[in-house]
Amino acid sequence: MNFKIAVVAGDGIGPEVMEENIKVLNAVGEKFGHSFEYEYVLGGGCAIDKYGEPLPRHTIDVCKASDSVLLGAVGGWKWDTLPGNLRPEKALLGLRGALGLYANLRPATLHQALAGACPLKPELVKDGVDIMVVRELTGGMYFGEKGRKQTDMGEAAYDVEIYSEEEVKRIARRGFEIAMQRNKHLTNVDKQNVLESSRLWRSVVLEVAKEYPEVELDHLYVDNASMQLIMRPTTFDVIVTSNIFGDILSDEASQMTGSIGMLPSASLGDGKLGMYEPVHGSAPDIAGQDIANPIATILSGAMMLKYSFGLDEEAKVIEDAVTKVLDMGYRTADIYSEGTKKVGTKEMGKLIRENL
Ligand code: NAD
Repeated sequence: MNFKIAVVAGDGIGPEVMEENIKVLNAVGEKFGHSFEYEYVLGGGCAIDKYGEPLPRHTIDVCKASDSVLLGAVGGWKWDTLPGNLRPEKALLGLRGALGLYANLRPATLHQALAGACPLKPELVKDGVDIMVVRELTGGMYFGEKGRKQTDMGEAAYDVEIYSEEEVKRIARRGFEIAMQRNKHLTNVDKQNVLESSRLWRSVVLEVAKEYPEVELDHLYVDNASMQLIMRPTTFDVIVTSNIFGDILSDEASQMTGSIGMLPSASLGDGKLGMYEPVHGSAPDIAGQDIANPIATILSGAMMLKYSFGLDEEAKVIEDAVTKVLDMGYRTADIYSEGTKKVGTKEMGKLIRENL
């Protein structure tokens, strides 16, 4: 099969980790007979330097016309003093908006080889952590009406948590569909004992559940969910939740995995087109030194194969190669511990390719 991929490598370590990602994808393509055609476009600080804006129209057009988008990372000290609308990070929000991406997928997978880096007691994670948080990305109080007003108690400020049936329906469907591709267990997280928006959310999730009788569905209030994640992390499969709850829970879950250099993510909309990127930023402190961990970006590439292209087997080959290389004791500096073998960005990419 033939796929057209837009590449926004970005700033700092973005281009370095992206290079390894592309080489791994090409090796997988060769192995399975697929061809990936890449179009490199500018976004973030490098686009500001060249065009005076973080997200040029051309970048949006190329991304829209592609089957999928790979993003490295954007930002850096050089652009830190620019006004908000000109900051490199505008490229991220702008792209998500322009591409209609409303579902954010954040897997938290603890590789057994890195179990020592997990802050939880070994007995809590001995069965392996493999959680997928599906977070609504474009609604809720981050985008609801906000403002200030005078009250008897002085100045007050508000941010409105608002969700429509359709917004909940589409994210719930994503949650169920991803559960179908995994272990068919979905946990809905809301706060319906207190919030009216959560009561609507819960009723829509229950309605959508009728379309997915194979999926085991349970519900947790967000405060309880944050406790259960720590107490019984191995019992979760897919979590679906709102923007603000997902923001917090996905960061909580990610802490079980050892390093920010290991965390991939995806943003999806209605169609197949998605944007795939590591969770970490451009890490200007280590850029250009061949020491960044490319695994988060390489695993984002695997997510693209699975969720945009439906190439589950090919994605698994990448994930298995990563596991194998970690089992063999190879580590980049961020996940290094005594007794393991320290390698650089390029070497880690090469090892993963050799073990596909
Ligand atoms: P960061 O994620 O870039 O770095 C935080 C720490 O983690 C640093 O010490 C860094 O060296 C380390 N780190 C990050 N990725 C790593 C990797 N792959 N391998 C090894 N170590 C890694 O966060 P920050 O320092 O807060 O932000 C730096 C810049 O990135 C800022 O301009 C910020 O706005 C931007 N940023 C961009 C994104 C994005 O593009 N999605 C996300 C977060 C931050």
